[in-house]
Amino acid sequence: MKKMDKMHEECGIVGIYGHPDAANLTYLGLYALQHRGQEASGIVTYDGKQFRQRKAQGLVADVFNPKNIALLTGSAAIGHNRYSTAGDSVLDNVQPLMGNSPRGRVAMVHNGNLVNATVLIKDLEAAGAVFQSTVDSEVILHLLARSSAKYLKDRIIDSLFQVRGAYSLLFLTEEGLIAVRDPYGVRPLLLGQLENGYVLASESCVFDLVGAKLIRDIKQGELLIINEKGLESFYPFPKVQAAQCVFEFVYFARPDSTIFSQSVYGIRKRLGQELAKESPVSADIIIPVPDSGVTAALGYAETAMIPFEMGLTRNHYVGRTFIEPKAAIRHFGVKVKLNAVREVLDGKRVVVVDDSLVRGTTSRKIVTMIRDAGAKEIHVRISSPPILSPCFYGIDTPTRKELIASSHTVDEICKHLTADSLKYLSEEGMFRAIYHNESAKDSHFCKACFTGQYPIALEEKESRQLSLFDKINR
Ligand code: AMP
Repeated sequence: MKKMDKMHEECGIVGIYGHPDAANLTYLGLYALQHRGQEASGIVTYDGKQFRQRKAQGLVADVFNPKNIALLTGSAAIGHNRYSTAGDSVLDNVQPLMGNSPRGRVAMVHNGNLVNATVLIKDLEAAGAVFQSTVDSEVILHLLARSSAKYLKDRIIDSLFQVRGAYSLLFLTEEGLIAVRDPYGVRPLLLGQLENGYVLASESCVFDLVGAKLIRDIKQGELLIINEKGLESFYPFPKVQAAQCVFEFVYFARPDSTIFSQSVYGIRKRLGQELAKESPVSADIIIPVPDSGVTAALGYAETAMIPFEMGLTRNHYVGRTFIEPKAAIRHFGVKVKLNAVREVLDGKRVVVVDDSLVRGTTSRKIVTMIRDAGAKEIHVRISSPPILSPCFYGIDTPTRKELIASSHTVDEICKHLTADSLKYLSEEGMFRAIYHNESAKDSHFCKACFTGQYPIALEEKESRQLSLFDKINR
């Protein structure tokens, strides 16, 4: 059996139905979702006769140009940004994936992670299936092709009854566009309107860019068909308690997005406010780790009534193409991405706010950098609880033993960081920030990374979770 890659992780997906510029709009949408995946990008369109595709490794801006977008004709399209890890960076793994069914061709994009894919793939391969890629999402296409149901919708449902895990999916078919969110609603997926057409996207920042109006979230367990007759919703799965990913709010989604019916910016700021209430400290300035800590640091500074300063500057042009220098000169590490502003930090008691602490590698370097720039005291404040367990539902985290909080106390971590103090936001504080709005009262979240309690049973414990994180944080 092929070694399955975790190419599906942390992806961004976009779909357009009923607009003459479908490919162009999908391209713009993928641009807005670049933070959800930078390894590869792809678009498939359907023009009533033919499916057309363009996919390649690279950023959205590298993969598409006016010439290749012009070839993607049709008024319906789906697109995908992939955040891959090391390993099989082959074109076969770049989504959209294409498959055949007796009801015609199907293109599919997936954001999430299937926890029982390995078992299913083994069975399918034993029954003669030949997999084109090493992404687990392909299993969905094989299962729907094998279903005995007559209609594509029922084939998809058949297939999804066999998989388990997190999936926000878009299927582009000859009969329309189909969107599905898994019964737990782990990953976001939203519906918007653009003129007479529809837009589907992982985050609402896509709608802002293309000028669409946000209609609503696709609901947990909803299968939505969009075709020339309009919209039709189905709820084929048994109802379970939702498990929307809380880490989307903490770190992953863009702050200008609305997901799970709430503003990410609003929540992140309140996370900082709660943190300031729980763990105040006398200090001269509050600084964020840019960009991930900015919104929480604003909230912290506001509540603490201490000036907010940008004590670290981020170089936004460090991309995947950065060539790792030889070990001998590698010590500059995180400085390529972040630099301390001596003017701000010299002689100051500093509170540095970040959204999360994972392995502690980056944070330790940042603390050293701030100290070297003359800070007198450094108090680290993290606007989420300690990360104790890996995510198996589509966020890339290292294995448990590399998660510093899984094997160290807060005091030990503080020592490792060489900080004067370290405080995390409590789980209660995090949920106070999230449930602050009346509209959130019926929402339920997955917090497995902070508690180790997995709402969807795992088959492949401690599966492949590494390497992207290595690339980013070294
Ligand atoms: P570290 O100090 O090595 O634990 O890294 C912490 C930094 O990683 C914080 O700035 C977080 O914003 C960032 N981070 C958290 N989760 C992820 C993730 N899944 N992928 C990449 N970076 C992350």
